[in-house]
Amino acid sequence: MLQTTLLTDLKGVGPAQSQKFESLGIRSVHELIEYWPRRYDDYSLLTPISALKPGMVSIKAVIKQTKGRYVRRGMHLTEAVASDDSGSVRLIWFNQPYREKSIQTNKAYYLSAKYSLSHQRFCLINPSIELVSEIPLNVARIIPIYRETKGLNSRQIRAAVKQGLGILDQIPESLPKWLINDYQLMPLAQAIRAIHFPKDSKKLSLATKRLGFDEVFCLSLASLLNKSDNQDQLSLSIQFKQELARNFVSHLPFKLTDAQRRIIWQIYQDLQKNQPMNRLVEGDVGSGKTVVATMAALMAIEQGYQVALMTPTELLARQHANTIFNLLKPLGMAKVVDLLVGSMKPAAKAKARAAIAEAKAQFIIGTQALLDEKVDMRRLALVIIDEQHRFGVDQRKILIRKAGHMPHFLSLSATPIPRSLALTLYGELDISVLDSKPPGRKAVITEIVSPNSRQQLFKKIDQQLAAGRQMFVVCPLINESDKLTAASAEKVYNQLKTKDFKHRRVGLLHGKLLAIDKNETMRQFVNGEIDILVSTTVIEVGVDVQNATIMLIEGPERFGLAQIHQLRGRVGRGRDQGYCYLVMSDSSQPNGRLRALESNNDGFALAELDLELRGPGAIYGTMQHGQLDLRIAKLTDTKLIAEARQAADRFLEKKENLLNYEQLNNRVSSLRAVTNLN
Ligand code: ADP
Ligand code: MG
Repeated sequence: MLQTTLLTDLKGVGPAQSQKFESLGIRSVHELIEYWPRRYDDYSLLTPISALKPGMVSIKAVIKQTKGRYVRRGMHLTEAVASDDSGSVRLIWFNQPYREKSIQTNKAYYLSAKYSLSHQRFCLINPSIELVSEIPLNVARIIPIYRETKGLNSRQIRAAVKQGLGILDQIPESLPKWLINDYQLMPLAQAIRAIHFPKDSKKLSLATKRLGFDEVFCLSLASLLNKSDNQDQLSLSIQFKQELARNFVSHLPFKLTDAQRRIIWQIYQDLQKNQPMNRLVEGDVGSGKTVVATMAALMAIEQGYQVALMTPTELLARQHANTIFNLLKPLGMAKVVDLLVGSMKPAAKAKARAAIAEAKAQFIIGTQALLDEKVDMRRLALVIIDEQHRFGVDQRKILIRKAGHMPHFLSLSATPIPRSLALTLYGELDISVLDSKPPGRKAVITEIVSPNSRQQLFKKIDQQLAAGRQMFVVCPLINESDKLTAASAEKVYNQLKTKDFKHRRVGLLHGKLLAIDKNETMRQFVNGEIDILVSTTVIEVGVDVQNATIMLIEGPERFGLAQIHQLRGRVGRGRDQGYCYLVMSDSSQPNGRLRALESNNDGFALAELDLELRGPGAIYGTMQHGQLDLRIAKLTDTKLIAEARQAADRFLEKKENLLNYEQLNNRVSSLRAVTNLN
């Protein structure tokens, strides 16, 4: 095992600086050298002085005549001249009086700086300099820039990393030889050195490839191993009864789409096995996932088993309970549906729990309240999780414990997950994509509105409200903080209620309100007793109010595209045309990213775009995947991802023993823990 050398063993790193490193998450030299640069400045090309052009430049020159002076109070200027064979250039440092003493005149230096005008003359401004006799660290090369913290800048981090790389000879190669050869990977130690101090851009790209490969390879291995573990578990086999399925479908008020049929069939095949299903159904908002989930549950219920449907919000749980009750009613099966949510009165809860324990309640719909230890679901055969990315592995484990065996898992997600992301982050899931929508759906008309045009917009909206339509107003996210976001919603609510729409009925919904008030407000909105519902993103998922045709989003710059797409999926669900207005917070021009929403109605395409422009966090917000984050590999690098996944498959096919690879084993084990159900 690698010795964890202390940071304070490095020259120049005392206890104070070591604390600064710690605040960046770096506690040992080993962690230090795995602190990857955030980006690079390329100072690798040296330019002869006579050929300098304005911009960032690097030169190699002899410095002469250094002179410092105060030009006025508090403003110090150090001036010097640097020369090479081709010419001379003026150097200026502002407020760095130590320069005059520290520069050795008539010695050759590497200098990197911006070449630009100062007082009508071209010069190098605040150049970084290093003696040519030393191996350059901060100049005349591709320079790593790190995430910094107060009192610790990239220059200091660089100096520490450079020393830290001394331990590289203790770091063995982590991957098998055949893999290094077949995929032409740079050896690990070389790659770690080159990611910090690449000789040239080619070496940098090889290092990036190697370390990115490692990330995806480890993730893939972890998910493949979890998947195979899961398949060793026993689940209850749920028989497919054709008559029952036919009967259910014949009572639907619509015809199933081909995509729905295909996926229901996949699920029925999974359920018949006594190996657990672990399937994710992805489908854009409104693609009809609820009926798919209900049909899955149908078979289990008929055979006397229990099904739990867990949702992230009470709103959604109540709505699902309602919908599913109505779907099952024609078959005489509605009585097995029961609701369990936190805001229910103790007596109602106790009653629901008793029904669940006796397995009279067979289709149990609820929030995290289902996880309460008093809830006893011993005949649980199938777990359905709506908006699966809101839940982590811990909640699933609780349900497994309740069942006393591994239930089948069906996850639903309306957040379209680009394929590359799905494969790397959800490798252990089987994925079904509900890729077509029920016929006749009109695309929501989306328009970006400048705040100056707000009053005009309100007039237009008011005509629709006058015609009996309803509107959602979604308030901007503030610092990811519930409290501030709730406050902003209250402000918007007051403004609309007392000024802009004082002749309309306005309601307010946000996470800080009491559940009982939220339910009442939602009920009023559903029943048309409220015209305008001001809310935070609590309404993002699943809420289905057909008469609401207008979605107004304040501060759309702060939302991810996929999230806005979800929000606008709340309107235009009935026969009427839906409208989505994105009201910018200031009158600056909206960027191309938001413009994409006006022309594009495909959730998957928008998610891909978000992924490219803002990374996975934009799609998933702050979720459990923090630990699965890729630091180097780009999810848009489909070639790298495909190779690394293939390598993981081959590793297992070859029956390689992970225990022979200590570093790899450690990483894979900690990744497995994030998603492993066992
Ligand atoms: P989501 O995938 O967003 O959960 P829902 O399951 O809430 O979508 O379905 C959205 C609406 O579409 C519901 O009102 C539902 O009754 C309706 N629906 C579902 N499937 C079909 C279909 N095949 N044809 C017509 N309407 C459908
Ligand atoms: Mg839904």
